[in-house]
Amino acid sequence: MKISEKEVWFVTGSQTLYGDETLRQVAEDSKNIAQGLDVSERIPLNVVWKPTVKSSEEIYNLCLEANADKKCVGVVAWMHTFSPAKMWIGGLKILQKPLCHLHTQFNREIPWNEIDMDFMNLNQSAHGDREFGHIVSRMKVGVKVVVGYWEDEDVQRKLAVWMRVANAWDDARDMKVARFGDNMNNVAVTDGDKVEAEIRMGYHVDYYPIGDLVAYVDRVSEDEIKALLDAYDKEYELAPNAKEGGKDRVSVVEAARIEAGMRKFFAERNIKAFTTNFDALHGMHQLPGLASQRFMAEGIGFGGEGDWKTAALLRTMKVMAQGLKGGTSFMEDYTYNLIPGNMSALQAHMLEVCPSIADGKPRLEVHPLGIGGKADPARLVFNTPTGDGIAATVVDTGCRFRMIVNEVKVIEPKPLPKLPVARALWVPQPDLQTSAQAWILAGGTHHTSFSMALTPEYMEDYAEIAGMELLEIGKDTRIREFKNELRWNDVYYRLNQR
Ligand code: MN
Repeated sequence: MKISEKEVWFVTGSQTLYGDETLRQVAEDSKNIAQGLDVSERIPLNVVWKPTVKSSEEIYNLCLEANADKKCVGVVAWMHTFSPAKMWIGGLKILQKPLCHLHTQFNREIPWNEIDMDFMNLNQSAHGDREFGHIVSRMKVGVKVVVGYWEDEDVQRKLAVWMRVANAWDDARDMKVARFGDNMNNVAVTDGDKVEAEIRMGYHVDYYPIGDLVAYVDRVSEDEIKALLDAYDKEYELAPNAKEGGKDRVSVVEAARIEAGMRKFFAERNIKAFTTNFDALHGMHQLPGLASQRFMAEGIGFGGEGDWKTAALLRTMKVMAQGLKGGTSFMEDYTYNLIPGNMSALQAHMLEVCPSIADGKPRLEVHPLGIGGKADPARLVFNTPTGDGIAATVVDTGCRFRMIVNEVKVIEPKPLPKLPVARALWVPQPDLQTSAQAWILAGGTHHTSFSMALTPEYMEDYAEIAGMELLEIGKDTRIREFKNELRWNDVYYRLNQR
C-alpha cells in the first residue's frame, strides 16, 4: 500500500496558554488523526506524529529536524488550537521540506447539546489555522492547503496527491540525468539552463560520449543477451521476422545487447533518466528503441534528441504515479486529424513510447528507420487505451522555467496497418484548436511527458513546491484570458526574481 519507506511528519501547532489538560487532549487528538491517516489505504506514505509545538523554539527545532531527516519528505501542519503565528516565522524561514496545511478539526460536527467554553477552547482550528495561513501567505511559502474533515475521502485524496508529489520531489534531490550526445543541433525548445535546473529542481545533467556506452555494450556476455531474449519472449508478442530463426532476429539480439550494456552503465552511476540523439550513435548498430521503452517501463525517465528536461520530468511523474492505474510515457505531437468538429492529434515517437500505456500485450517488431542511417531497430508497437490523461512539459523561457499542462482525452484510432510505432490518438482539451493555440503561445515543446495516472492537481502541487510557473490548458481555457495570464506572469516572475 505504501509506495516508499519515506514519511511525512504530522505537526500540530498550539501554545502554552491553555494549560496541561487541554494540551494533553491536543496531543491525544492529533495522535489519533496522524495514526488514522497512517493506516488509511488512501495514504501512500507513512504518517509520523510529532509532539505538539507550542513555542518559537520548538517550531524552529522541528523544522531543523525535518530538514535534516532523510526519511521526511514533507510536513503536514494543523492548528488544533490557536498558535500565534509569529512563533512560526523562524521555523518557516528555514523549512526546506514541502509544506501541506491541513485545515481540519478533530470532530466532524458541532456537538450542539454538549458544547461549552472548554470545547471552544480546545477546538479552534477554524481561527487557529487562519492565523497560521496568514504567516505562510505573507512569507510566500509554497504550500498546499487542504480543507475538510480528515477522515473524508476527498481530503485524504488531496493529501495523497501532495504526498506522491513530495516523494517525487525528494526523489529528484539526487536525480542524475545522462545525456548520450548533446541536444540535437539547432533545436531550441529541448535545450535550456542546466545549472538553473539543478538549483531549482535538483536535476544533475551530465554528458556522456556515446563511445563510453558502446564500450559497455561491447562487453555484454551471451548469457546476459539470452536472459533478455527470454524476457522478450515472455512479455511480448513477437512478429515472425523477430522470432528465433526470423530474418531480422539479429536486430532483436542486438537490441538485447544494447539494453544489457545500458543497464550496467546506469546501475554503476545511479542514473534516473537519460536522453539519446539519433545523430550521435557512432559505434552503435541501431538506435536504442526497445531498450528506451523497457527502461521507461521500469521508471527511468527518457527524452529523445537530447531532451533532458522532458527526461527528468518523466522520471518525476513516474515516481508520482507509482502503483496507480494508468501508464506514463514520453510522447511527441506527431500529426493531426483536422476534420471540423472532430480534430485530434496523433502521438508517437520514432520508437520510444513506454509500454506502461499499452492497451494489451505489446508486439515486438523490427522495421527500417527512415532517419539516422543505422540498422533496422527493434521496437514495441501498441495502441493506448481510451481515457483521460495529461500532457506536461517544462520549457526554459530564458529567465525562468515554465510548466505547461494540458488535459487530453485519448480516443480510439482507426487501424494503422503500416505505422510500425506505438501511438496514442487524443483530443486535447478544450479542443485541438484552442489547446494548440494556447500551447504555442506559451512556447510549449513538441515533446511531452504524458500520463493517464495523474491529474493536473499533481502538477499544480509540484509547481508550488518548485516555485515554478504553471500554465494549465483544459476545459475552461479561453485564449483571451490565457494571453493575459502570459503577460501577467511575465511581470510577476520578473518582480519575484531573487
Ligand atoms: Mn522527438
